[in-house]
Amino acid sequence: MATSGQGACDGTDAGVRRYARRRPELTVLHRVVREHKATLFAEAEARSASGRGYPRHVRDEFDKYERCGILAYGLIRARCQSCGDEQVAAFSCKRRTLCGSCAGRRMTEITTHLVNDVLPVARYRQWTLSVPWRVRALLMVHPELVGRLQRLWVRILATYARRCARDLMAVRGTPLPRGTPLLTGAVVSIQRFGSRLTIHVHLHGVVPDAVWMRAADGTLSAIDVPAPTDDDVAQLVRTMCRKMTALVDRWQIARGETDPPEDADELTTLMKADFGAAAPRIDEVPTERRPGRLAALCDGYSLECRPNVAPHDRRGLARLLRYGTRPAFAQDRLTLENGRVVYALPKPFWTGQTHVVMSPVEFLRRLAALIPPQRFHCVRYHGLFSSASKDRDRACALAPPVEESDDHRERTDRSTTHSLLRNHASATTPITTGATATTDPERDAPYRRRRRIEWARLLRQVFAVDVLRCHCGGERKVIAALTRRQSPDALRRYLEHIGEPADPPPTAPARAPPQTELAFPAPTQASTHTEESVALDPVDPLPDWDAHFAD
Ligand SMILES: [Zn+2]
Ligand SMILES: [Zn+2]
Repeated sequence: MATSGQGACDGTDAGVRRYARRRPELTVLHRVVREHKATLFAEAEARSASGRGYPRHVRDEFDKYERCGILAYGLIRARCQSCGDEQVAAFSCKRRTLCGSCAGRRMTEITTHLVNDVLPVARYRQWTLSVPWRVRALLMVHPELVGRLQRLWVRILATYARRCARDLMAVRGTPLPRGTPLLTGAVVSIQRFGSRLTIHVHLHGVVPDAVWMRAADGTLSAIDVPAPTDDDVAQLVRTMCRKMTALVDRWQIARGETDPPEDADELTTLMKADFGAAAPRIDEVPTERRPGRLAALCDGYSLECRPNVAPHDRRGLARLLRYGTRPAFAQDRLTLENGRVVYALPKPFWTGQTHVVMSPVEFLRRLAALIPPQRFHCVRYHGLFSSASKDRDRACALAPPVEESDDHRERTDRSTTHSLLRNHASATTPITTGATATTDPERDAPYRRRRRIEWARLLRQVFAVDVLRCHCGGERKVIAALTRRQSPDALRRYLEHIGEPADPPPTAPARAPPQTELAFPAPTQASTHTEESVALDPVDPLPDWDAHFAD
């Protein structure tokens, strides 16, 4: 009857893969958190002046992660309407940093929403900015400075795109009248992590190679702008360096300080100590200087842009967006060796380093620093794509239909003229991409009505997995929710009945310093090879369907 599987997808039905419960308690991360969280907290309390240790949101992230996906903390039962087969799902934490499953879901949800409902047809490219070590130390602990810096960044990129569009129109012999408003847009992801689990606040922007002109009746038409050259990128990074240095200086003077304040809060103090120990105090990563690489450095500011994706390549666009919104680290790269946590880097660091080896508590301390402040938005929408834009609904209406067939995509791609990008001095090509608002009432509906994406549909769309479809072909409905707080006895009886552990996995108390790292047992086969048994795309983190029945 109840089937909470072994974290595997079986392809018993033609074309429909069944989705079974993952088992987070078997992962290395879960085990390290359970066994060392109390020590981490105790150590932070001892280190902090007030004795409070980590602030609430950091402790919450660890506590909630520990419960995410564990049936013994509560579950939902879903029963097939045709054959009566039942599946159970645990509750999820919906946090952004530690939980790869919830972070992966968030990534998928943001990406799907943007691709299907917001971003109009255009060429998009990714821009990346990282800042000097000195500024990084400030961004780590001052979220409002991050906000200002990313707004300035987008303004500089928008000014550049507008200038390109005006120059292009002038070259084409149809200069735009002075004061013609040109609309731009950008989606900026603020990442707090570097590839080596170090705190490294930097910006990823998905920016169209286009600006939009608004006609008298309000309709928008696009002007493609040419791809940037190496010289453009070099010029841009110099501008960014000049303006950002001035911004940071003004900000520091206004606050009357030259360094992060010593007494701002406990997290600041703790992170400063960790940052000083873990971060390399270097700004300039040696990069290959080859023409066409579209990367430039200026006084520790580093700007890079990637090749753009074609206007109707929505999969390519989704890839760009996923890159910016991806989780901080890949859980399947973690192993335990002789009581040390080993993180295999996705690709060798420029120093040649391939692995990071840490004690469990040092590893958790690094993760704690990666948790963004409360209410901090890691993804920001600008210009046309921001919810404040009065043109947003019109821009959204230019997003291509959701379930467009590949055939159609190719046809539209060919029929749309983009030679402007390759030869913007050509006098025979039209100026717009031809993308204008459709009259289909469904497409013109305000994006807000379509905004909430049902989780089962989302998962089906992205991974071709139908979570509410039974193997018999019937549909599952949620029939009950049991929680440890409200119905502990019923939950225990039910878990015993289906042969699942009724008690949560055990946690270890805080250990007194100095740490006895060797007391941590060596990993077993079962604890190091877990999530990979789910046969989804190995590049993408595993989404969590647990408890999303209720959404
Ligand atoms: Zn069934
Ligand atoms: Zn979670």
